[in-house]
Amino acid sequence: MNGHPVTAGTGTADADDISGAVAQLCARFDDIYWREVDSKKAYPKEFVDALTEAGWLSILIPEEYGGGGLGLSEASLVLEEINFSGGNGAACHAQMYTMAALLRHGSEEQKQTYLPEIARGALRMQAFGVTEPDAGSDTTRIRTMAKRVDGGWVVNGQKIWTSRVQHSDLLLLLARTTPLAEVTRPVDGLSLFLVDLRTAGDAVTARPIDTMLNHETNEVFIKDLFVPQDALVGVEGNGLRQVFDGMNAERILLSAECIGDGRWFVKRASEYASTRQVFGRAIGANQGVQFPIARAYAAVTAATLVQRDAAQRFDAGLPCGAQANMAKLLCSEASWQAADTAMDCFGGYAFATEYDIERKFRETRLYKNAPISNNLVLAFLGHHVLSMPKSY
Ligand SMILES: Cc1cc2nc3c(=O)[nH]c(=O)nc-3n(C[C@H](O)[C@H](O)[C@H](O)COP(=O)(O)OP(=O)(O)OC[C@H]3O[C@@H](n4cnc5c(N)ncnc54)[C@H](O)[C@@H]3O)c2cc1C
Repeated sequence: MNGHPVTAGTGTADADDISGAVAQLCARFDDIYWREVDSKKAYPKEFVDALTEAGWLSILIPEEYGGGGLGLSEASLVLEEINFSGGNGAACHAQMYTMAALLRHGSEEQKQTYLPEIARGALRMQAFGVTEPDAGSDTTRIRTMAKRVDGGWVVNGQKIWTSRVQHSDLLLLLARTTPLAEVTRPVDGLSLFLVDLRTAGDAVTARPIDTMLNHETNEVFIKDLFVPQDALVGVEGNGLRQVFDGMNAERILLSAECIGDGRWFVKRASEYASTRQVFGRAIGANQGVQFPIARAYAAVTAATLVQRDAAQRFDAGLPCGAQANMAKLLCSEASWQAADTAMDCFGGYAFATEYDIERKFRETRLYKNAPISNNLVLAFLGHHVLSMPKSY
């Protein structure tokens, strides 16, 4: 893949075709482009437009609705390649991970209405509103409430960290339809809605959050928002379970971004270590510099195998909660290991924006904390896979 030894492809011709085509597109958006977007904290609109036009953002939409009809394994390659090119797939990845909930639980009418429009680039579905100020990791405690009225619901509440909402036409929103106190199990009574932001008006307002990385993310205030009956995705009260499909997809796709980041750091570090001369020789000849890079390469490669397995299981419709969580844990740790290694390797220059190491370092760090913190991933494995007692 790309003629570089830092490769993580699946080894199949189709996979290499996808990675190669995405790499070609990404080559139009170089380090300078991403550096400028980062320094201005701007949305990389030109890049997202190009990706949309080329059809990569609709890769998961079935062919009958005008999409690519491919699976999470292929979508992963797209995101991996974006991050390996030095870019940041977070600008648009939600259109892929929100798709799982809509494809698996959306009505035929919803699919007919939205999917062809998304596929031809006329509509964006880039926002997923789950997290709230008082309900981060504990999603069952969200307070945004959808109350039944004639013809639908009226929603009131507040979300936080709703990313890309200002660059999206649709918002996949999780709200309570039955208060927590009235349900038998906390996971019950939550419902999923596909909110059309183009008609929401003042009922949905966003306040941007300034963050250490360029990530368009917001506090969102919802006041008396009417959502019609046909905006409900799947079954009323079953929203959280439906979201779990999307969350596995999200973890698998973000893992692919981490692989791309990890490969980028290893490539840049190994190249720099081979050329930077100190004490009359390349710094990479010193084992103190060379071995951490080799170790990061091994970690990224191993994590890639777990991510591939998770994606294939998801595509085959097999249970993949354990694999998706392990992929998220291992890929985010591997990319962070590679990032930290690159910071050491570049010495003082790691801190100069023109080398892009500090930018990618900030970007990849996010994935240890979001979309779910690695502590909660470990809690999932400890409790659901290894049957140990629950901490919550
Ligand atoms: C840049 C960015 C973009 C985001 N985009 C979105 C988005 O588009 N949509 C969305 O809905 N959300 C989004 N999020 C939110 C993200 O999913 C949450 O930040 C994440 O789920 C953690 O929630 P929290 O921040 O409230 O942390 P908390 O739940 O407050 O947890 C704080 C710390 O305590 C630890 N902790 C808590 N309970 C336990 C326990 N029982 N055992 C061990 N450790 C525990 C956690 O692991 C974590 O380290 C985004 C966040 C960021 C930073």
